[in-house]
Amino acid sequence: MKLLVTGGAGYIGSIVAQQLLTDGHEVVVLDSLARGHRAAVPDGARLIELDLLEADALRDAVAEGFDGALHFAAYALVAESVARPELYYRNNVVGSLNLLDALRSAGVQRLVFSSTCAVYGEPEVIPMDELTPTRPVNSYGASKLAVDGMISDECRAHGLGAVSLRYFNVAGASGCLGEDHEPETHLIPNVLRAAQGLQDAVKIFGTDYPTPDGTAVRDYIHVEDLARAHVLALDGARPSEHRIFNLGSGDGYSVREVIEAVRTVTGLDVPAVEAGRRPGDPPRLVAANGKIRAELGWAPTKSLTDMVGDAWRFAQQRPHGYAGAHAH
Ligand code: UDP
Repeated sequence: MKLLVTGGAGYIGSIVAQQLLTDGHEVVVLDSLARGHRAAVPDGARLIELDLLEADALRDAVAEGFDGALHFAAYALVAESVARPELYYRNNVVGSLNLLDALRSAGVQRLVFSSTCAVYGEPEVIPMDELTPTRPVNSYGASKLAVDGMISDECRAHGLGAVSLRYFNVAGASGCLGEDHEPETHLIPNVLRAAQGLQDAVKIFGTDYPTPDGTAVRDYIHVEDLARAHVLALDGARPSEHRIFNLGSGDGYSVREVIEAVRTVTGLDVPAVEAGRRPGDPPRLVAANGKIRAELGWAPTKSLTDMVGDAWRFAQQRPHGYAGAHAH
Protein backbone atom coordinates (compact mmCIF):
# COMPACT_ATOMS: atom_id res chain seq x y z
CA MET A 1 0.00 0.00 0.00
CA LYS A 2 0.98 3.63 -0.40
CA LEU A 3 0.63 5.18 3.04
CA LEU A 4 0.72 8.70 4.43
CA VAL A 5 2.30 9.02 7.88
CA THR A 6 1.77 12.40 9.54
CA GLY A 7 4.25 13.05 12.33
CA GLY A 8 6.56 10.44 10.88
CA ALA A 9 9.62 12.35 12.14
CA GLY A 10 8.50 11.92 15.74
CA TYR A 11 9.18 9.11 18.21
CA ILE A 12 6.24 6.82 17.52
CA GLY A 13 5.53 7.93 13.94
CA SER A 14 9.08 7.23 12.79
CA ILE A 15 9.10 3.75 14.30
CA VAL A 16 5.73 2.88 12.76
CA ALA A 17 6.96 4.28 9.41
CA GLN A 18 10.02 2.03 9.69
CA GLN A 19 7.78 -0.98 10.39
CA LEU A 20 5.59 -0.19 7.36
CA LEU A 21 8.65 0.08 5.11
CA THR A 22 9.94 -3.25 6.42
CA ASP A 23 6.55 -4.76 5.57
CA GLY A 24 7.00 -3.56 1.97
CA HIS A 25 4.69 -0.55 1.92
CA GLU A 26 5.48 2.77 0.24
CA VAL A 27 5.67 5.48 2.91
CA VAL A 28 5.32 9.24 2.62
CA VAL A 29 6.05 11.12 5.85
CA LEU A 30 4.36 14.45 6.35
CA ASP A 31 5.91 16.44 9.21
CA SER A 32 6.44 20.12 10.00
CA LEU A 33 9.72 19.25 11.78
CA ALA A 34 8.60 21.74 14.46
CA ARG A 35 9.14 18.99 17.02
CA GLY A 36 10.11 16.04 14.85
CA HIS A 37 13.63 15.28 13.72
CA ARG A 38 14.73 15.03 10.10
CA ALA A 39 17.20 12.33 11.15
CA ALA A 40 14.36 10.21 12.54
CA VAL A 41 12.63 9.87 9.14
CA PRO A 42 13.51 6.31 8.13
CA ASP A 43 15.58 5.63 5.02
CA GLY A 44 13.25 4.83 2.16
CA ALA A 45 10.44 7.16 3.26
CA ARG A 46 9.79 10.35 1.31
CA LEU A 47 9.49 13.45 3.51
CA ILE A 48 7.04 16.26 2.82
CA GLU A 49 7.86 19.12 5.18
CA LEU A 50 4.48 20.66 5.87
CA ASP A 51 2.36 21.82 8.78
CA LEU A 52 -1.20 20.46 9.01
CA LEU A 53 -2.37 24.03 9.60
CA GLU A 54 -1.45 24.89 6.02
CA ALA A 55 -4.76 23.59 4.75
CA ASP A 56 -4.41 24.36 1.04
CA ALA A 57 -0.89 22.98 0.74
CA LEU A 58 -1.99 19.93 2.73
CA ARG A 59 -4.88 19.28 0.36
CA ASP A 60 -2.49 19.54 -2.60
CA ALA A 61 0.00 17.16 -0.97
CA VAL A 62 -2.62 14.52 -0.16
CA ALA A 63 -4.19 14.83 -3.62
CA GLU A 64 -1.53 12.53 -5.09
CA GLY A 65 -3.57 9.72 -3.51
CA PHE A 66 -2.97 7.19 -0.74
CA ASP A 67 -4.37 3.81 0.24
CA GLY A 68 -4.41 4.90 3.85
CA ALA A 69 -3.15 7.40 6.40
CA LEU A 70 -1.68 7.06 9.87
CA HIS A 71 -2.00 10.25 11.85
CA PHE A 72 0.59 10.89 14.58
CA ALA A 73 1.30 14.60 14.15
CA ALA A 74 0.34 16.36 17.39
CA TYR A 75 1.70 18.21 20.36
CA ALA A 76 1.84 15.88 23.33
CA LEU A 77 3.15 17.65 26.43
CA VAL A 78 0.55 17.59 29.18
CA ALA A 79 1.89 20.51 31.23
CA GLU A 80 2.27 22.68 28.14
CA SER A 81 -1.29 21.84 27.12
CA VAL A 82 -2.56 23.15 30.44
CA ALA A 83 -0.52 26.35 30.17
CA ARG A 84 -1.30 26.96 26.48
CA PRO A 85 -4.57 25.18 25.59
CA GLU A 86 -5.05 27.26 22.44
CA LEU A 87 -1.86 25.76 21.00
CA TYR A 88 -3.22 22.25 21.53
CA TYR A 89 -6.69 22.92 20.13
CA ARG A 90 -5.24 24.66 17.08
CA ASN A 91 -2.48 22.20 16.35
CA ASN A 92 -4.16 18.94 17.32
CA VAL A 93 -7.83 19.64 16.58
CA VAL A 94 -7.71 22.12 13.69
CA GLY A 95 -4.73 20.27 12.20
CA SER A 96 -6.70 17.00 12.29
CA LEU A 97 -9.77 18.66 10.79
CA ASN A 98 -7.61 19.90 7.92
CA LEU A 99 -6.26 16.39 7.49
CA LEU A 100 -9.78 14.89 7.39
CA ASP A 101 -10.75 17.46 4.74
CA ALA A 102 -7.68 16.61 2.67
CA LEU A 103 -8.24 12.85 3.01
CA ARG A 104 -11.90 13.21 2.01
CA SER A 105 -11.14 15.30 -1.05
CA ALA A 106 -8.44 12.83 -2.14
CA GLY A 107 -10.74 9.84 -1.55
CA VAL A 108 -8.49 8.24 1.11
CA GLN A 109 -10.63 5.68 2.86
CA ARG A 110 -8.58 4.34 5.77
CA LEU A 111 -7.21 6.15 8.80
CA VAL A 112 -5.36 5.05 11.91
CA PHE A 113 -5.28 7.71 14.63
CA SER A 114 -2.91 8.04 17.54
CA SER A 115 -5.22 8.63 20.50
CA THR A 116 -4.39 8.38 24.18
CA CYS A 117 -5.56 7.03 27.53
CA ALA A 118 -5.45 10.69 28.64
CA VAL A 119 -8.98 10.94 27.18
CA TYR A 120 -10.16 9.02 30.27
CA GLY A 121 -8.67 11.43 32.84
CA GLU A 122 -8.66 9.91 36.32
CA PRO A 123 -10.67 6.70 36.04
CA GLU A 124 -12.43 5.11 38.99
CA VAL A 125 -12.06 1.55 37.75
CA ILE A 126 -8.71 -0.12 36.94
CA PRO A 127 -7.89 -1.77 34.56
CA MET A 128 -9.55 0.59 32.09
CA ASP A 129 -11.50 -0.67 29.12
CA GLU A 130 -12.94 1.32 26.22
CA LEU A 131 -16.22 1.95 28.08
CA THR A 132 -14.44 3.98 30.76
CA PRO A 133 -16.07 7.43 30.86
CA THR A 134 -14.07 10.01 28.90
CA ARG A 135 -13.32 12.91 31.24
CA PRO A 136 -9.95 14.34 30.28
CA VAL A 137 -8.23 16.45 32.94
CA ASN A 138 -5.90 18.38 30.62
CA SER A 139 -6.12 20.04 27.22
CA TYR A 140 -3.90 17.40 25.62
CA GLY A 141 -6.42 14.67 26.46
CA ALA A 142 -9.33 16.96 25.57
CA SER A 143 -7.80 17.74 22.17
CA LYS A 144 -7.34 14.04 21.37
CA LEU A 145 -10.89 13.27 22.51
CA ALA A 146 -12.22 16.03 20.26
CA VAL A 147 -10.40 14.45 17.31
CA ASP A 148 -11.82 11.01 18.16
CA GLY A 149 -15.27 12.62 18.05
CA MET A 150 -14.57 14.27 14.69
CA ILE A 151 -13.36 10.97 13.27
CA SER A 152 -16.50 9.12 14.45
CA ASP A 153 -18.67 11.69 12.70
CA GLU A 154 -16.51 11.61 9.56
CA CYS A 155 -16.92 7.83 9.38
CA ARG A 156 -20.69 8.06 9.81
CA ALA A 157 -21.19 10.91 7.35
CA HIS A 158 -18.64 10.12 4.65
CA GLY A 159 -17.79 6.43 4.89
CA LEU A 160 -14.22 6.71 6.20
CA GLY A 161 -12.93 3.54 7.88
CA ALA A 162 -10.94 4.53 10.97
CA VAL A 163 -9.24 3.01 13.97
CA SER A 164 -8.19 5.01 17.04
CA LEU A 165 -5.56 3.49 19.27
CA ARG A 166 -5.55 4.87 22.81
CA TYR A 167 -1.96 4.49 23.92
CA PHE A 168 -0.84 4.01 27.47
CA ASN A 169 2.85 4.75 28.34
CA VAL A 170 4.93 4.09 25.26
CA ALA A 171 8.58 3.24 25.93
CA GLY A 172 11.69 1.68 24.43
CA ALA A 173 13.40 2.14 21.09
CA SER A 174 13.68 0.31 17.78
CA GLY A 175 16.90 -0.04 15.80
CA CYS A 176 18.42 3.42 15.58
CA LEU A 177 15.12 5.17 16.35
CA GLY A 178 14.04 6.28 19.80
CA GLU A 179 12.62 8.95 22.03
CA ASP A 180 13.98 12.52 21.92
CA HIS A 181 11.69 15.19 23.32
CA GLU A 182 12.57 18.71 24.39
CA PRO A 183 11.83 19.10 27.21
CA GLU A 184 11.87 15.41 28.15
CA THR A 185 9.09 14.78 30.63
CA HIS A 186 8.81 10.99 30.41
CA LEU A 187 9.98 8.76 33.19
CA ILE A 188 12.21 6.16 31.50
CA PRO A 189 14.34 8.61 29.46
CA ASN A 190 14.74 10.80 32.55
CA VAL A 191 15.83 7.87 34.72
CA LEU A 192 18.36 6.94 32.03
CA ARG A 193 19.67 10.51 31.93
CA ALA A 194 20.22 10.35 35.68
CA ALA A 195 22.01 7.01 35.23
CA GLN A 196 24.25 8.59 32.57
CA GLY A 197 24.99 11.61 34.73
CA LEU A 198 23.28 13.92 32.22
CA GLN A 199 20.99 15.16 34.98
CA ASP A 200 21.62 15.25 38.72
CA ALA A 201 18.92 12.90 39.94
CA VAL A 202 15.56 11.69 38.77
CA LYS A 203 12.66 13.12 40.70
CA ILE A 204 10.05 10.70 42.00
CA PHE A 205 6.85 12.69 41.65
CA GLY A 206 4.70 11.66 44.60
CA THR A 207 5.40 9.00 47.25
CA ASP A 208 2.03 9.13 49.01
CA TYR A 209 -0.19 7.54 46.36
CA PRO A 210 -2.53 4.72 47.42
CA THR A 211 -0.32 2.14 45.66
CA PRO A 212 1.85 -0.65 47.15
CA ASP A 213 5.03 1.45 47.31
CA GLY A 214 3.39 4.90 47.34
CA THR A 215 4.51 5.86 43.82
CA ALA A 216 2.29 6.12 40.74
CA VAL A 217 1.61 3.06 38.61
CA ARG A 218 1.56 3.14 34.81
CA ASP A 219 1.12 0.64 31.99
CA TYR A 220 4.31 0.69 29.88
CA ILE A 221 4.14 -0.69 26.35
CA HIS A 222 7.10 -1.30 24.05
CA VAL A 223 7.04 0.95 20.99
CA GLU A 224 7.57 -2.09 18.73
CA ASP A 225 4.51 -3.84 20.19
CA LEU A 226 2.67 -0.56 19.68
CA ALA A 227 3.87 -0.30 16.07
CA ARG A 228 2.59 -3.79 15.29
CA ALA A 229 -0.86 -2.78 16.50
CA HIS A 230 -0.91 -0.05 13.82
CA VAL A 231 -0.29 -2.57 11.07
CA LEU A 232 -3.19 -4.68 12.38
CA ALA A 233 -5.37 -1.58 12.75
CA LEU A 234 -4.78 -0.62 9.14
CA ASP A 235 -6.05 -4.03 8.06
CA GLY A 236 -8.91 -3.80 10.54
CA ALA A 237 -10.33 -0.49 9.28
CA ARG A 238 -13.85 -1.00 7.90
CA PRO A 239 -15.83 1.48 5.79
CA SER A 240 -18.11 3.79 7.81
CA GLU A 241 -16.83 2.40 11.12
CA HIS A 242 -14.72 4.05 13.79
CA ARG A 243 -13.16 1.33 15.92
CA ILE A 244 -11.53 2.39 19.19
CA PHE A 245 -9.03 0.27 21.12
CA ASN A 246 -7.04 0.75 24.29
CA LEU A 247 -3.43 -0.13 23.65
CA GLY A 248 -1.37 -1.07 26.68
CA SER A 249 0.45 -4.14 27.97
CA GLY A 250 -2.08 -4.70 30.75
CA ASP A 251 0.67 -4.68 33.41
CA GLY A 252 1.28 -1.83 35.83
CA TYR A 253 4.65 -0.76 37.24
CA SER A 254 5.36 1.87 39.86
CA VAL A 255 7.91 4.67 39.47
CA ARG A 256 10.16 2.90 41.96
CA GLU A 257 9.90 -0.37 40.02
CA VAL A 258 10.93 1.44 36.82
CA ILE A 259 13.94 2.99 38.56
CA GLU A 260 14.89 -0.45 39.90
CA ALA A 261 14.59 -1.93 36.38
CA VAL A 262 16.99 0.76 35.11
CA ARG A 263 19.48 -0.06 37.90
CA THR A 264 19.32 -3.74 36.99
CA VAL A 265 19.61 -3.25 33.22
CA THR A 266 22.37 -0.63 33.28
CA GLY A 267 24.24 -1.88 36.34
CA LEU A 268 24.56 1.78 37.28
CA ASP A 269 23.63 3.69 40.36
CA VAL A 270 20.61 5.90 39.67
CA PRO A 271 20.36 8.93 41.93
CA ALA A 272 16.70 9.54 42.77
CA VAL A 273 15.07 12.14 44.98
CA GLU A 274 11.55 12.16 46.32
CA ALA A 275 9.43 15.12 45.26
CA GLY A 276 5.80 16.19 45.47
CA ARG A 277 3.11 14.90 43.15
CA ARG A 278 3.05 16.33 39.64
CA PRO A 279 -0.31 18.08 39.24
CA GLY A 280 -2.85 16.04 37.31
CA ASP A 281 -1.08 12.67 37.66
CA PRO A 282 -3.58 9.94 38.61
CA PRO A 283 -2.38 7.18 40.99
CA ARG A 284 -2.87 4.24 38.61
CA LEU A 285 -3.47 3.86 34.88
CA VAL A 286 -3.52 0.31 33.55
CA ALA A 287 -5.15 -0.88 30.33
CA ALA A 288 -7.68 -3.63 29.93
CA ASN A 289 -6.50 -4.81 26.50
CA GLY A 290 -9.03 -7.60 25.91
CA LYS A 291 -10.75 -5.79 23.05
CA ILE A 292 -7.69 -5.34 20.84
CA ARG A 293 -6.53 -8.88 21.64
CA ALA A 294 -9.90 -10.33 20.65
CA GLU A 295 -10.72 -8.15 17.64
CA LEU A 296 -7.33 -7.44 16.05
CA GLY A 297 -5.38 -10.43 17.33
CA TRP A 298 -2.75 -8.21 18.95
CA ALA A 299 -0.78 -9.21 22.02
CA PRO A 300 2.22 -7.61 23.74
CA THR A 301 5.49 -9.52 23.43
CA LYS A 302 7.98 -7.33 25.29
CA SER A 303 8.67 -6.84 28.99
CA LEU A 304 9.61 -3.78 31.01
CA THR A 305 13.20 -5.06 30.94
CA ASP A 306 13.08 -5.10 27.10
CA MET A 307 11.77 -1.52 27.07
CA VAL A 308 14.42 -0.25 29.46
CA GLY A 309 17.13 -2.22 27.64
CA ASP A 310 16.21 -0.81 24.24
CA ALA A 311 15.80 2.74 25.59
CA TRP A 312 19.23 2.36 27.25
CA ARG A 313 20.82 1.28 23.97
CA PHE A 314 19.33 4.34 22.23
CA ALA A 315 20.44 6.64 25.08
CA GLN A 316 24.01 5.34 24.73
CA GLN A 317 23.98 5.69 20.93
CA ARG A 318 22.52 9.17 21.13
CA PRO A 319 23.11 10.71 24.57
CA HIS A 320 22.00 14.06 23.16
CA GLY A 321 19.15 12.69 21.07
CA TYR A 322 19.06 13.41 17.35
CA ALA A 323 20.88 16.74 17.75
CA GLY A 324 23.82 16.85 15.35
CA ALA A 325 22.73 13.57 13.80
CA HIS A 326 23.37 13.11 10.12
CA ALA A 327 20.16 13.86 8.19
CA HIS A 328 18.98 11.52 5.46
N1 UDP B 1 7.53 10.59 36.73
C1 UDP B 1 8.45 10.79 37.74
N2 UDP B 1 9.61 11.46 37.42
C2 UDP B 1 9.87 11.94 36.17
C3 UDP B 1 8.93 11.72 35.15
C4 UDP B 1 7.75 11.05 35.47
O1 UDP B 1 8.25 10.38 38.89
O2 UDP B 1 10.93 12.56 35.97
C5 UDP B 1 6.30 9.83 37.03
C6 UDP B 1 5.02 10.56 36.69
O3 UDP B 1 4.59 11.33 37.80
C7 UDP B 1 4.07 9.41 36.35
C8 UDP B 1 4.99 8.35 35.78
O4 UDP B 1 6.31 8.68 36.21
O5 UDP B 1 3.48 8.91 37.54
C9 UDP B 1 4.98 8.31 34.25
O6 UDP B 1 5.15 9.63 33.78
P1 UDP B 1 5.39 9.97 32.25
O7 UDP B 1 5.60 11.45 32.16
O8 UDP B 1 6.46 9.09 31.71
O9 UDP B 1 4.05 9.54 31.54
P2 UDP B 1 2.52 9.96 31.85
O10 UDP B 1 1.95 8.81 32.63
O11 UDP B 1 2.51 11.24 32.59
O12 UDP B 1 1.93 10.05 30.49
